[in-house]
Amino acid sequence: MSEYQGVLHRYGHLLHLPPHTRPVTLLEGNTPLIPVLRLAEHLGGGFELYVKYEGLNPTGSFKDRGMTAAISEAVGRGARAVICASTGNTAASAAAYAARAGLRPIVLIPQGKVAAGKLAGAVAYGALVIQVEGSFDDALQMVVEISEKHPICLVNSLNPYRIEGQKTAAFEICDRLGAAPDWLCLPVGNAGNITAYWAGFRQYDFLRGIGLPRLLGVQAAGAAPLVLGHPVDHPETIATAIRIGRPARGEQALQAAEESGGRIIAVTDEEILTMQRQLAALEGIWVEPASAAGLAGLAHEIAAGRLNVRGRRVVAVCTGHGLKDPDIITGQIGSPLVISPRVEILEGVLFQ
Ligand SMILES: *Cc1c(COP(=O)(O)O)cnc(C)c1O
Repeated sequence: MSEYQGVLHRYGHLLHLPPHTRPVTLLEGNTPLIPVLRLAEHLGGGFELYVKYEGLNPTGSFKDRGMTAAISEAVGRGARAVICASTGNTAASAAAYAARAGLRPIVLIPQGKVAAGKLAGAVAYGALVIQVEGSFDDALQMVVEISEKHPICLVNSLNPYRIEGQKTAAFEICDRLGAAPDWLCLPVGNAGNITAYWAGFRQYDFLRGIGLPRLLGVQAAGAAPLVLGHPVDHPETIATAIRIGRPARGEQALQAAEESGGRIIAVTDEEILTMQRQLAALEGIWVEPASAAGLAGLAHEIAAGRLNVRGRRVVAVCTGHGLKDPDIITGQIGSPLVISPRVEILEGVLFQ
């Protein structure tokens, strides 16, 4: 088998990218689909559950799949600078791929609302990072306007090539399982990812007849415009990656969920944090809070008797790595116990 060369090399023939596209890759994609038996038992058992662990992409989130496509198109077109608004992961990804391509990355983030690991990433990759006294939605509006006026390429998921690249996760799941799963659960923020998955599954089903999943999209209760049916002016949630009140692709997300026979629901921050802990403690998979939302939604629906998974195959997308947001854990537990360096004391702690 030839060496893995990234999602454009593997699936480029299925993506709608212009001929001038010049691949820029960090060998993103090809992430593991991990069976999580203990968690499935914990949720009642009797079904197959897998985690698509997108935190193992090069910059720690699924954003790399879309970014390789967007940056490859931009550099082929002769762009010199790229810009995005970000809750953090898009910023880190854009900065890394821009660095790889020799482009100038500019990122706008909501002040004080970006997790430490994401901000550090964007800075480390050399982005010009600007904090906006406002929400992600305010920042997005600014970068859309500036990219219309100046020769700076927009790489938010309004950029259609981002969606093309993100379809590859759906292809990978189907290739691995030999069919589409019965349900796909995933967090929904700006709604690019759910839009991309649905497009990917539909394309693969059209080409290969592998079936379609039902989609369970999950928002945080404090940032749930698609559940409430109206924009949220001041979105709040500890899951900062989905702290979005006006999703750019909200209509498409609602349509995708409906077409699939699924739905979009909301879960509380507490449910998200509980699932984050369970996934780490039961399976050894540590994801950032937003990434646990899909599974939290699954647990919520099963507990409420609204989702019968018996005999079914369910895939939950875990979108970003736990290391992105370490403060959320240390903030909950404080510092670990401190003892003096004597084995009797350790024995006392362990065996009393
Ligand atoms: C971007 C992101 C999301 C939300 O994806 P959308 O395409 O905006 O709906 C969820 N989780 C993580 C970790 C993300 O980085």
